[in-house]
Amino acid sequence: MEKAGIENAGNENAAIESDAPVILTRAGLDELVEVLISSGYRVIGPTVRDNAIVLEELLSGDQLPSGWGVDSGPGSYRLRRRSDAAVFGHSAGSQSWKEFLHPPRQPLWSMDGDQFVASAPVPVRYAFLGVRACDLAAISKLGVVLGGGARPDGAFARRRAGLLVIAAGCTEPGGVCFCASMGTGPAPGPGYDLSLTERIDASGHRFLVDVGTEAGARIIGLLAHRVATESEVTDAREAVGAAAQRMGRQMPITDIRALLQQSRESPLWEDVAQRCLTCGNCTMVCPTCFCTTTEDLTDLTGEQVERSERWASCFETDFSYLHGGSVRTSGASRYRQWITHKLGTWHDQFGSSGCVGCGRCIAWCPVGIDITAEITTLADQRDDLEAGVDVLGSLGAPTEDPR
Ligand code: SF4
Ligand code: SF4
Repeated sequence: MEKAGIENAGNENAAIESDAPVILTRAGLDELVEVLISSGYRVIGPTVRDNAIVLEELLSGDQLPSGWGVDSGPGSYRLRRRSDAAVFGHSAGSQSWKEFLHPPRQPLWSMDGDQFVASAPVPVRYAFLGVRACDLAAISKLGVVLGGGARPDGAFARRRAGLLVIAAGCTEPGGVCFCASMGTGPAPGPGYDLSLTERIDASGHRFLVDVGTEAGARIIGLLAHRVATESEVTDAREAVGAAAQRMGRQMPITDIRALLQQSRESPLWEDVAQRCLTCGNCTMVCPTCFCTTTEDLTDLTGEQVERSERWASCFETDFSYLHGGSVRTSGASRYRQWITHKLGTWHDQFGSSGCVGCGRCIAWCPVGIDITAEITTLADQRDDLEAGVDVLGSLGAPTEDPR
C-alpha cells in the first residue's frame, strides 16, 4: 500500500507511517466500534447468544464476547468462561461472514398481480470486526467464485465493494482448527483493512494494529493510538506464530487433489455413508460453500408471487436432479462429491483448495465426521495399496457403485 500519515487522535502532531503497527487500548476498541457506526458502517462482530458465539450487528463494544472461550471437537461445541477478559479469545462459531456477503435467502423479484417488481439492491456498507485468518481466506475465495468470472454475482460484488475488514490475529486456535496446515492462518493474509492482535498481560489489555489499506489508516486516524514498541510487535507476532503449533488438527501433507482423483472407487465412501446423515450441516456452516437454488412462493389467490434465491447443499437429493432423476442418490456419492469438490476439483475451477481449515464442518457435524480424518484414511489406504496391503479388510469392499 502507499504510505499515508496516520494522525494520533490523542496527539494531533504525531503523524506516523501507515505501515508502522500501532496500539489501541481496550477502550480504544469500543471507540473503534463507535467510529465505524458514525462513519456509516453496519458493524458485524462476535457476541454471545444462545450459549454460542454468534455474528450479529453490534451497536457498541460492550456486546463483544468479553471473557468467553470455546471448547470444540468433532460434533461438539461448548462455551466456557476464560480467566481473562479477552474479546477474541474464542474460535469460530457456526456462522461465518458468508451469511452477510452471500445471505441464506435473498429475494430476486416478485409479482403483484400482473405488476413485475424487481428487488431493489440494498446498498450496504458492512464493517466486519474480528475476522480470523481462515475466514479472511474464505472471503477471498468467495470473491473468486462469486465476484469473479464473466458474470459476477451483482449482489455479492456490491456488498464486497462496500466492506471494511478488521481482522483478528489468532492466538487461541480451537480443537477443530487446522488453518496452519491449509496455509491460511493463523496470521491474517492479504485482504484486511486493519488487523488486531489482542494481548493481555501485566501492562494491560491492548491490541497491536496492523494497517492494511488507506481506508484502515483513515479509521485509525480518528482514534487515540500510539506507535507500538518493538517488544510489543515481537510479542504479538510470537503469540500468533505459537498458535500454529496449537491447532487441534492438521490436514495430511500430501497432494490431496491427486489423492482424490485416485480414490473414486475407494471403500471409504461406503464407510462414511454408514455414519453420514446427509443433513447438509457441513455445507451450511462452511464459509466457502456457495451453491444456491431458486424457490417460488405463491399466495393462495395467485396474486402475489415471489422468487428468491436460497442456499442449497450438495447433500440434498434434488441438488443433482437432471431431467427425470437425481444423479447422486446415495450418501456415499454425495459425501464423495462434497469432499472431492472442496479439496480437489476446486483447484481446477478456481485455482486453490476450497477449504480454509476453519473446522466448522467437524464441530457442527452431528455425528462428528472429520474431513481431516477422512483424508488421512484415504492417504493411508493409498499408501497401503502401494505397499501391497489389502485395505478392504478394514473397511469392507464397496457393495455397489456409489451413485
Ligand atoms: S470444509 Fe470444513 S474446515 Fe474446510 S472451510 Fe469448509 S467448514 Fe471449514
Ligand atoms: S458429513 Fe456430517 S454434517 Fe455433513 S451431511 Fe454428513 S452428517 Fe451432515
